[in-house]
Amino acid sequence: TGAIDIENLTKVYDPEGERVVAVDDMDLQIGAEEFVALLGPSGCGKSTVMNCIAGYLEPTEGEVLVDGNRVSGPDPKRGVVFQDNRLFPWKTIQENVEFGPQMNDGVEEGRARSILDEMGLDGFEDAYPSGLSGGMQQRAELARLLANDPDIMLMDEPFSALDALTKEIMQKKLIEVWERDNRTVLFITHDVEEAILLADRVVVMTARPGQVKDVIDVDLDRP
Ligand code: ADP
Ligand code: ADP
Repeated sequence: TGAIDIENLTKVYDPEGERVVAVDDMDLQIGAEEFVALLGPSGCGKSTVMNCIAGYLEPTEGEVLVDGNRVSGPDPKRGVVFQDNRLFPWKTIQENVEFGPQMNDGVEEGRARSILDEMGLDGFEDAYPSGLSGGMQQRAELARLLANDPDIMLMDEPFSALDALTKEIMQKKLIEVWERDNRTVLFITHDVEEAILLADRVVVMTARPGQVKDVIDVDLDRP
């Protein structure tokens, strides 16, 4: 599970009568359990595509199908990580990780703990996000996503704000998790090197408006 089918996707923003075509008639198929990087310059529509897959945005035209079903809103099976962390500042790291699953399915405390351990956050369970470094906050974000056991991981420049060493650690962590659990990953980046390092396929979008320009299959040695 976790196949994504983007069909004739068009998204037009119209804030104050000023039409912005962010994505123009895009077609893209992502196979179940594939790791795909979505690459393109800033403003080319990557986040818009991702938000349509996540169900946060409604397409203007066309549709997104996940395992054959039309996306009509958010679903914990499609987990999202953004560049800036969206942790709740008034909740501890553990409470943050438990929050989503509690709301959706209910997760035992033990499972949250083991995910936190896996992400190298043992000892930080009771810390608040503001007390952690940017890298630790992104670990917590990844932990929160994994706690929902998503079929699809949607990641929007998740490591772009991290220093080089932390970035490398997180990239390895992500590959480890992906290889073990075989979830579908759509990884947005404007970093060519990162795209090629991580993904099986790199989808390149044109500058504007967003359309697929090229799809590159990468044969790689992962970190
Ligand atoms: P989003 O649309 O998901 O917020 P963007 O890619 O538009 O993501 O930008 C997120 C942040 O990253 C912004 O602050 C932007 O200035 C910065 N950014 C985006 N692309 C680049 C880039 N090529 N080089 C440096 N900073 C960038
Ligand atoms: P990327 O993620 O590749 O940086 P985005 O999907 O964030 O690109 O943005 C694509 C285009 O849509 C850009 O021109 C951006 O300015 C515009 N855009 C994004 N969000 C909105 C919005 N909420 N309202 C109006 N225009 C937007």
